[in-house]
Amino acid sequence: MKTTRKNLDVVIVGAGAAGVGCGVVLHDLGIKNFVILERDRVGATFSRWSAEMRFITPSFPSHGFGLLDLNAVVWDTSPAIAFKREHLTGKEYALYLQTVVDYYHLPVQTGVDVQKIDPLPQQQGFLLKTSAGEIRCRFVIWAAGEFQYPRLHPFPGAELCIHNSQVSSWREIPGDEFLIVGGYESGMDAATNLVALGKRVRVIDRATSWANDHTDPSISLSPYTVERLKIAYSTGLLELVNDTCVEEVKRVKDGYAVYSEYNKWMSLTPPILCTGFTGSLSLIANLFSWQDGQALLTAQDESTRTPGLFVVGPSVRHGQVIFCFIYKFRQRFAVVAEAIAYRMGLDTSPLDVYRQNGLFLEDLSCCGNDCIC
Ligand SMILES: Cc1cc2nc3c(=O)[nH]c(=O)nc-3n(C[C@H](O)[C@H](O)[C@H](O)COP(=O)(O)OP(=O)(O)OC[C@H]3O[C@@H](n4cnc5c(N)ncnc54)[C@H](O)[C@@H]3O)c2cc1C
Repeated sequence: MKTTRKNLDVVIVGAGAAGVGCGVVLHDLGIKNFVILERDRVGATFSRWSAEMRFITPSFPSHGFGLLDLNAVVWDTSPAIAFKREHLTGKEYALYLQTVVDYYHLPVQTGVDVQKIDPLPQQQGFLLKTSAGEIRCRFVIWAAGEFQYPRLHPFPGAELCIHNSQVSSWREIPGDEFLIVGGYESGMDAATNLVALGKRVRVIDRATSWANDHTDPSISLSPYTVERLKIAYSTGLLELVNDTCVEEVKRVKDGYAVYSEYNKWMSLTPPILCTGFTGSLSLIANLFSWQDGQALLTAQDESTRTPGLFVVGPSVRHGQVIFCFIYKFRQRFAVVAEAIAYRMGLDTSPLDVYRQNGLFLEDLSCCGNDCIC
């Protein structure tokens, strides 16, 4: 049924980790006239992970001592306690998010795709065009994530390949030898899972992602992946080809020919693309000013071009500070919620508990990963 011209204070787009976590903060502030619009189901991105994929950030029940579980989006919860597991599957995490939604009675509407956001004249709010009709609101929080649109065509012949996001389980892919294009987290996840199944794997990466020793896991492989990579490499089943850009894939008599500028490899099975995703901000790119590929945001993560439009989740960047993990971006939910609460004239003292629990990161000058040893 079509809904038309609802008038809401806030619309959150997306019920993933960011949308659900931010929804709880709005709830805690006493904001009632809001909705979370989700085109699929709660935690849909996580539900689609392959069966073997695990969180690379560990969960641990540390919140009783003031240190939040790295994957919690609410201060008094711990996925580690819920699932008795350090590295959760995607489906487990989606269930954690659904449990949070149920506990807080968050107003999530699933199956509603937000197709367009039109700012109203004189900063009077927004008109959202959705698959369920039009909605009018004062503020929009964009939480639609970075993992919706797989890069399926990075080079000619890519349509012959399989993107890793299309794999529901590595056990179901027929063949004994595989070629993977891309050697960052997704590529190494695919490679280590295939090697664990006894398959021979070649990974081709345009850089040398596995040797990047940057201290920020947003830039280099996580310790969990490096650990798995060492085990996979020691089997002799894994070959790593670095500083090589795949330029084309062709179907040939015995399989697939994979070309770089100077080399050619054969693969009996369709090559696997681990070439990443295009972020969802691309859908509403016109509502932001851009610099070096980053949407410019204010200190409260509001579009510098469209007042009233906020962003939460891994798309948030401030210069060199990248918020692409839950333990990072959850610290900005309360910052956004406070900005909205101020403008609505609400009491912001419910946010004190967020400050006390390390969930209110305002001063980004302290964000760094330097280590003395
Ligand atoms: C291989 C891999 C491993 C990862 N491991 C970790 C990890 O260990 N730790 C970690 O913190 N992160 C990890 N991540 C990243 C993790 O997936 C993101 O941190 C997380 O998904 C971001 O949450 P989000 O809510 O911003 O986006 P999502 O979880 O993608 O949620 C966005 C939601 O918005 C909905 N949506 C999108 N567009 C619309 C629209 N137009 N209208 C309505 N709804 C819409 C989607 O259906 C989706 O449910 C990993 C990612 C990958 C690819």
